[in-house]
Amino acid sequence: MKDTVLTIVVPCYNEEEILPETITCLQELLDELTAESLISDRSKILFVDDGSKDRTWEIIYKEGLKNKYVKGLKLARNVGHQNALLAGLEAARDLSDCVVSIDADLQDDIRVIREFMLKFHDGCEIVYGVRKSRETDTFFKRSTAQSFYKLMKGLGVDLVYNHADFRLMSQRAIKELDRFKEVNLFLRGIVPLIGFRSDVVYYDRLERKAGETKYPFKKMLAFAFDGITSFSISPIRFVLVIGFVSFLMSLAFGSYFLALKFLGATQTGWTSLITSIWLIGGLQLIAIGLIGEYVGKIYKEAKQRPKFIVDIDTFNLSVPKRQLL
Ligand code: UDP
Ligand code: MG
Repeated sequence: MKDTVLTIVVPCYNEEEILPETITCLQELLDELTAESLISDRSKILFVDDGSKDRTWEIIYKEGLKNKYVKGLKLARNVGHQNALLAGLEAARDLSDCVVSIDADLQDDIRVIREFMLKFHDGCEIVYGVRKSRETDTFFKRSTAQSFYKLMKGLGVDLVYNHADFRLMSQRAIKELDRFKEVNLFLRGIVPLIGFRSDVVYYDRLERKAGETKYPFKKMLAFAFDGITSFSISPIRFVLVIGFVSFLMSLAFGSYFLALKFLGATQTGWTSLITSIWLIGGLQLIAIGLIGEYVGKIYKEAKQRPKFIVDIDTFNLSVPKRQLL
């Protein structure tokens, strides 16, 4: 157990306000875990700077010069939380037995990492941190998140309920991640698909300690929508079914009105006509939009662009000769 190298991967985007505190807390935790022989003293914290515009990289880099735990990965530009996380997992993988991913804002209870390690030593390859309740969330975030999980479940996607990206993965599990080639990354959906032995640990999520959320409503909605369309084609099927139903209905209406016409009971019919034009037009636009969404996904996947580009990596020491700051 003493030789288990743990790396904690922390994606950071404009987190200068909270970073010093995050560093102190995680460092204390690693000290404790090392003292308890749960991890090796070669364990590290890898901060991934996701193209921040503030002093985030400067803080990480300077800390790394004097702190044996702290390593940094600087991405060339902002690629979003999921890709930044993947960059960190991939960089950390080869030199770690297991990796824990956690947000920079200390919302997730870091003490839980001890339980993660205990489960890892028991043979689990993936351990999910699951929130006990969502009391610290606003009513709005709570209810939208709940409907999201319900919807995903209804669509047949296997998500761990109330689990965000706070989890432990073994080196072997991260290696398997490589084989999921999709450019549209939704780690929460992909990790359960790996299927190795896993377990969950429950914890209370706290409020963000400093700085502000990088997931305002618009981004949250886009993230949820991406999650759905990356994992399920049920929405397109649903549109197809509606198409069939409205086609059958139009046949029925059509024959009814034709019959009326031949019987001489002509309808003025303007209301029904205009309503159905709008209805069918609307449905068609929705359908085309939805299909476009999937086609767009295929387009993105077909290009196979890199998910992130590493600028500086002090974890694996592939440091370019020029200035690091
Ligand atoms: N983050 C990132 N790139 C982005 C946006 C966010 O690396 O483009 C990081 C952010 O620094 C934080 C984590 O992802 O560590 C989660 O973001 P946040 O706490 O703002 O999301 P919330 O907890 O409000 O959903
Ligand atoms: Mg947060």
